[in-house]
Amino acid sequence: MIAIKKLNRNLSVTGEVRPEDMSAIVSLGFRSVVNNRPDGEAPDQADDAVLRETASRNGLGYEFIPVASRDIPHLAAARFAQAMAVLPGPVLAFCRSGARSTALADKAASAQSSQRRDFDIVVVGGGAGGSAVASSLLKRRPGLTVAIVEPSDTHYYQPGFTMVGGGVFVQSDTHRPMGQSMPRRAVWVKAAVTGFAPDQNEVQLSDGGVLGYRALVVSSGLVTKWDAIEGLEDTLGRNGVTSNYRFDLAPYTWDLVQKTRRGTALFTQPPMPIKCAGAPQKAMYLACDHWRRSGVLGDIAVEFNTAAPALFGVADFVPSLMEYVKRYNVGLHVTSTLRAVDGAEKVATFDVKGSDGSMRTEQKRFDMLHVVPPQVAPDFVAESALADKAGWVEADHTTLQHPRFPNIFSLGDVCSAPNAKTAAAVRKQAPIVAENALAMLDGRMLTAAYDGYGACPLTVERGKVVLAEFGYGGKLLPTFPLDPTKARRSAWFLKATAMPPIYWNLMLRGREWLARPNQLGG
Ligand code: FAD
Repeated sequence: MIAIKKLNRNLSVTGEVRPEDMSAIVSLGFRSVVNNRPDGEAPDQADDAVLRETASRNGLGYEFIPVASRDIPHLAAARFAQAMAVLPGPVLAFCRSGARSTALADKAASAQSSQRRDFDIVVVGGGAGGSAVASSLLKRRPGLTVAIVEPSDTHYYQPGFTMVGGGVFVQSDTHRPMGQSMPRRAVWVKAAVTGFAPDQNEVQLSDGGVLGYRALVVSSGLVTKWDAIEGLEDTLGRNGVTSNYRFDLAPYTWDLVQKTRRGTALFTQPPMPIKCAGAPQKAMYLACDHWRRSGVLGDIAVEFNTAAPALFGVADFVPSLMEYVKRYNVGLHVTSTLRAVDGAEKVATFDVKGSDGSMRTEQKRFDMLHVVPPQVAPDFVAESALADKAGWVEADHTTLQHPRFPNIFSLGDVCSAPNAKTAAAVRKQAPIVAENALAMLDGRMLTAAYDGYGACPLTVERGKVVLAEFGYGGKLLPTFPLDPTKARRSAWFLKATAMPPIYWNLMLRGREWLARPNQLGG
């Protein structure tokens, strides 16, 4: 076997492959082989049958798509594109020198981007919601054709960002290559959706392609609006200004926490909705706990400035959280919204609403500033026919079905349902969308019902969590038969130890632990 050339994340090409090369191919991490060399080209060449048998013996996927020259027939390109969609990757394609395999891959890619491709189900976004729902769909019906449109190479475990900022996790605990987290039987379309044509059952892609579907599931997450706070982008990651809402800045939060020994530390929360409404507080509590343990908390003035009128949206949890606010001597400022940051001068400007409705501006000096930005629906959703007035994908709050386009469903942060935007909500929503989308495709009544469950594990100190689990209207929905409003060690164990494997190995794989859908009317 001659040198291997990597064309992209999922495909490499090489020259002649012999049966005895198969075990080396496995040890290089490939999972499939495509043979592009016609049988009988050279007298000493191994033919298709022999290569197929040795590939299979070595546990490799195998496809035979012979091409005689670099002038690639259209049918071969279409077969190659199909093979790439179904073979386990990464794939190694070969001919005599690798040149025909490269030409074939090029033609297949350009044919793909200019054509409409059809799937039973197209999922927009391969994050928490997209991967979980695709797995739940394929688990129920393995023969479905499911495409996940996802532009990013990396899947982020965002609930871990707070733990990085608190010095409990390291950054590498919170991301994995997208190819590893996606369900294997789904086709990954590596592009961004740029528009919806719900009357044609089509989505448009950033590479010019079009995907057709029988059912569409939208889980493209939300957008963090850093530019909505004047001066913020110029100083993020410098001058003591940080945010756990950015993967790359969570380690800087922990750096700052360790280095701050005196002065003023400001933590901010923007207007709702945001993902994980407790995360702005979590950053603060973990910082305060570190300062308390290091004996410097008394020398640091800590403030929580929130745009909301109360510390937390569900009143039952407020007393436990207030105990920690008092313990850490935090100055709580409600209806106080960060408007601008001057990093060089270390001054933050707030719009403060008085109890009489009057507005005033306050400037505060800081040594450390943890910012949570305002959050909105992505433009390609907000400007589409799918959006509600606020820009989110309109959805029935119980079935998660679009009220105007019955073959469209949504879940996760982009969905208009008024639940807490959390991965915990996604864990419950994914099986519901899977069941209801399949019922819709079969022409049956929708049966699965969402109660608005979401959860926010508030890390009030290192070793203790208030596990706020609640549904629509703030109804408490505790998973375990314990007083849910109390800070507990067991809940810390869940957050710090159990949740990451539950996320990666159960939720994203369609293993619906404690997530059986309620039945409509049940
Ligand atoms: P995401 O997981 O964000 O995935 C969206 C995907 O869509 C991304 O992969 C993105 O690349 C893709 N995408 C974007 N645009 C397009 C496009 N045009 N076309 C195709 N794809 C696109 N939740 C909890 O349950 N517990 C917690 O403790 C918790 N803590 C958190 C702490 C922080 C700091 C943050 C930031 C979040 C936290 N969350 C927590 C929230 C949780 O991470 C999200 O609610 C969850 O990831 C939402 O899943 P999603 O699929 O809607 O969005």
